Amino acid sequence: MPADYYALLAIPRTASEEQIRSAYRKLARQYHPDVNPSADAAERFKAVTEAYEVLSDAQRRQRYDMFGSNGGDFGIGDLFDQFFGGETRRRERGPLRGADLRFELEIDLLDSVMGAERTLTIPRLDPCQRCKGSGAEPGAAVSTCGGCNGQGEVRQVRQSVFGRFVNVSACPRCGGAGKVAERQCGQCRGEGRERIERSVSLSIPAGIDDGQQLRVSGEGEAGMRGGPSGDLYVLIRIKEHPRFKRDGDDLLHVLRVSPAQAALGADAAVPTIEGEEAKLKVPAGAQHGQVIRLRGKGVPRLGQGGRGDLLVFIEVAIPKALNKEERKLYERLREIASPLAQDESSMFDRIKDAFGQ
Ligand SMILES: [Zn+2]
Ligand SMILES: [Zn+2]
Repeated sequence: MPADYYALLAIPRTASEEQIRSAYRKLARQYHPDVNPSADAAERFKAVTEAYEVLSDAQRRQRYDMFGSNGGDFGIGDLFDQFFGGETRRRERGPLRGADLRFELEIDLLDSVMGAERTLTIPRLDPCQRCKGSGAEPGAAVSTCGGCNGQGEVRQVRQSVFGRFVNVSACPRCGGAGKVAERQCGQCRGEGRERIERSVSLSIPAGIDDGQQLRVSGEGEAGMRGGPSGDLYVLIRIKEHPRFKRDGDDLLHVLRVSPAQAALGADAAVPTIEGEEAKLKVPAGAQHGQVIRLRGKGVPRLGQGGRGDLLVFIEVAIPKALNKEERKLYERLREIASPLAQDESSMFDRIKDAFGQ
């Protein structure tokens, strides 16, 4: 049966945000598990928190008013922390997962197109070799921890505006193990972990793009007290290439041609990312800014098969200086050439494109 959120918080259906907030605050203070340890209270706390979570969000409230409750996917701890400013602390005992590590790797455009294998040297914390992570000197006598009487955790009672909070955390003396060695490991001074540099081999898939991340599972920092290792995330950065720009699966290349080549057409060659040149026909009457598409000479599509294209941008380059003979021929051309038709609209389109509007 769907819960009636308004009844749970004991507020009218027309309640304001402030009314909802203060009703929840009052009830949470009454039923929070750290204040009221009964199982009944825990259930009530969960229910009023769900009600608050929905009604305090204008969009969700509206949906609830129209369609009713559809159950909750909500993080009760997160909400409580947010509401009361992190008054509760997570219990720290038992195995803890190691931290994730982040690493930035700069690669060449060619490697991003063709794929590559790399060996990374990653500094990280690993279980200490000498004590196998226990922190105790091998062979040293082990006794019950005096800090926690072997319980592995310590309780701390605090007074706050909401009442008495019992904070349970891992014993600082034994790290939660409940036992201490007579002598600490000489290598890690009892921490159980040591800083090492580890070689990690990384397969960079063909077609990876700038800003994408690769995850190497289990290559983060070692866990504590037998917990699993974190993961390694490698952020890929692609270096600028002098002859190509990348645009998704396509590569862009600029080909400079002379006015005569553009007017008469020409056979040209353009570089490809693999190194071989590809033949390209510049058509007679090619325009500055015209793009010629060479299919399948771009970047492999990551996880989809096939490749993008090589887009060749034609740049008609006007000579800045002319030799005697060229000057004569250009002068002759100027005399005999038929006037060009004015075409402002395409010119304005190009100006707009150039300004990216
Ligand atoms: Zn202890
Ligand atoms: Zn050690």
